[in-house]
Amino acid sequence: MQGLMMQQPLLVSSLLTHAERHHGEREIVSRRIEGDIHRYSFTELARRSRRMANALSSLGIDRGDRVATLAWNGYRHLELYFAVSGSGAVLHTLNPRLHVDQLAYIIENAADRVVFFDITFLPIIEEVAKRATGPTVFVAMTTRAHMPATHQLPVSLLCYEDLMDSHSDGFTWPLLNENDACSLCYTSGTTGLPKGVLYSHRSTVLHTLSAALPDALNCSARDTILPVVPMFHVNAWGLPYIACMVGAKMVFPGPSLDGRSLYELIEAEQVTLSAAVPTVLQGLLAHADEHQASFSSMRRTVVGGAPCPTAMTATFQDRYGVDVLHAWGMTELSPLGTVCSFKSHQLGLPVEQRNAIQAKQGRALFGIDMKIVDASGNELPWDGRSTGDLHVSGHWVSREYFRGENSARLRNGWFPTGDVAKIDPDGFMQITDRSKDVIKSGGEWISSIDIENVATLHPDVLGAVCIAASHPKWDERPLLLVVKVPGSSVSSDELLAHFDGKVAKWWKPDAVVFIDSIPLGATGKVLKNTLRDQFRNYYVGD
Ligand code: ADP
Repeated sequence: MQGLMMQQPLLVSSLLTHAERHHGEREIVSRRIEGDIHRYSFTELARRSRRMANALSSLGIDRGDRVATLAWNGYRHLELYFAVSGSGAVLHTLNPRLHVDQLAYIIENAADRVVFFDITFLPIIEEVAKRATGPTVFVAMTTRAHMPATHQLPVSLLCYEDLMDSHSDGFTWPLLNENDACSLCYTSGTTGLPKGVLYSHRSTVLHTLSAALPDALNCSARDTILPVVPMFHVNAWGLPYIACMVGAKMVFPGPSLDGRSLYELIEAEQVTLSAAVPTVLQGLLAHADEHQASFSSMRRTVVGGAPCPTAMTATFQDRYGVDVLHAWGMTELSPLGTVCSFKSHQLGLPVEQRNAIQAKQGRALFGIDMKIVDASGNELPWDGRSTGDLHVSGHWVSREYFRGENSARLRNGWFPTGDVAKIDPDGFMQITDRSKDVIKSGGEWISSIDIENVATLHPDVLGAVCIAASHPKWDERPLLLVVKVPGSSVSSDELLAHFDGKVAKWWKPDAVVFIDSIPLGATGKVLKNTLRDQFRNYYVGD
């Protein structure tokens, strides 16, 4: 027997129409490229998104066409999120930190027809346009007054606000198939060529619903959300959609992601929830520390994209009263898979034990299932000790890549994440390594992440990376690369002694090498490959 309920497709545009009708007055605040602060309401966002939808159709954009953006977090970017996806085209967010050759490859692979970009990115766009034929229109996301005086683009350059001004807001969001694509994001390409992950309206709306829940990102109409995490990478972890769904005020930092700029914005706009990768939050904490500042409104921050060091959790929570929500995700997962929020029986635990739980990436959201498997694909127990390859499945997990690249990736219906993890009896998953980053010493695995966590607890350590270095006897041994706090004279022996009693003896790195800085990739992740290439033969000698 069929149920007798209305059938409405789950569409990205519904998030905006809901925000307009029920939270029209809520503010969206953006620090602009032009340097000033811009603010308007959800009502304005909805009106301008409809105008931009009309502009897109005047540019000849049809359903399914790819429209690219190369932009910071801001209201114009948000308008494109809805104008493009809402009208049935596919929003392709480009990561400006990628090399121009990679950007050109991605634009060609996606067959982008139009590229919208923030004016700061004109030099990148000019380089890309030399390499990628395909886009027929470029649009600078600015006003006429700020348009570049000259440019070297082979095709026409339009002005965003001119396009906006020349169209009406009379537009009805089409009733699309919920399984149609709404947006496209390429993986960061640390292994091989970037691959396109094509999200559907349905997967995006389901991700939004689940990610906003109290045990996930815990978002409500009383929140002011600062997505520091870029809108060009996995849709800023879904926060712009979530804010529309729950009616939260949104604050966009534009290009200023340094600690001071973020702190000032957080205080001025009374942000309650922020979200960023650990490296960016390190800058915020350093600023707060240096100025003996406090957070008057911020109650929690999402930390993800890389392991959240225990020292960071402790500092945020114990010193500043800001709860850390450690989250794990991937581009292929839209991105959220797990969030670390306590179960009720953990609340009364001593602070050290709670901080240790928060070093884990957390429990699976409803809509995602996970398991760990051994090399033969057998499922391993959730005993908090067994480590294996992490596989996931769910409503917002990619089935195959755009254009079928690597389409045979699923294993019996499960997506192999490339992460190595353990899961405890409470269902808390902890990443111990990426499969390509593991350290295998005498046939046993050592968790590079655990080693890094212990290292960063040392007050003289600004940053630490643990890599596998070849070893004549053990095959591989951990080598610790450390960036010291400026002015520190700590020795490698002192740092090694710091590990005594904190990790198993054979996990202790054999040596410490001091480096000036840690190389980061396009999404703020440590480029372990680069460091491995440089230091692989440290123990064997060249
Ligand atoms: P995202 O930017 O959402 O992290 P990417 O696809 O660029 O997405 O990278 C995903 C990978 O990043 C994961 O497979 C994992 O290796 C790593 N990662 C993400 N979040 C965490 C986390 N909290 N702890 C450890 N590693 C993480």
